[in-house]
Amino acid sequence: MQNLILLEDETILREELAEFLADIGHRVDAVASLAEFERVHDPVRHRIAIIDLGLPDGDGMDLIRTLRRQGQRVGIIVLTARGAVRDKVAGLEDGADHYLSKTADLDELAATVSALSRRLDDAEPDECWVLEPGPRRLLPPGFEAIPLSQQDLTVLQALMIHPGTIVSRQEIVTALGENFLDYDQRRLDTQMRRLRRKVEDATGLVLPVNTARNAGYLFYAEADIRN
Ligand code: CA
Repeated sequence: MQNLILLEDETILREELAEFLADIGHRVDAVASLAEFERVHDPVRHRIAIIDLGLPDGDGMDLIRTLRRQGQRVGIIVLTARGAVRDKVAGLEDGADHYLSKTADLDELAATVSALSRRLDDAEPDECWVLEPGPRRLLPPGFEAIPLSQQDLTVLQALMIHPGTIVSRQEIVTALGENFLDYDQRRLDTQMRRLRRKVEDATGLVLPVNTARNAGYLFYAEADIRN
């Protein structure tokens, strides 16, 4: 069983695919536009995204590029009527894992989903962000270690202990040894901006942290803390 998100704007096809994938045991969230994808997509839960390219509010390929730029480890299957070889090559270069023609039969889709699931399972250790508090460094997947300040370390530790969970601003501020009521909230935003920039400058990857407005922050990738 996989948690899938399916982005396809043609209603009949979307319903047919969602129903088929559910029938073979997957959990499917089906959406019809880029905007809806953004609202529903859960980077922690959805392991595979099946994405149509021609969409009412944009190009699925832009979404794929964004997901990859963010360093998201979601498996991506492109589903499209554009069958040309040129499109196929471009799709794979931009970060799609598989490319399926809309005329492919459902068994081929099922086989592709299970092949991709196996590959994601094998690849898992490499996709993990590792924090090493002792030497005070962050190891982004596939890149050299990034040295951290004590404050960077404290913030990341608070987030990476609970990946996929919103950690409140108060929790982070308290971990920094500050009194939440006296604390200027903008300092935390600045701290987070600096940390994001540091990671992006070193790797080109987006630090996998979402801002939950007025609530806190969430580390959405797989994380490990090694003491
Ligand atoms: Ca379409």
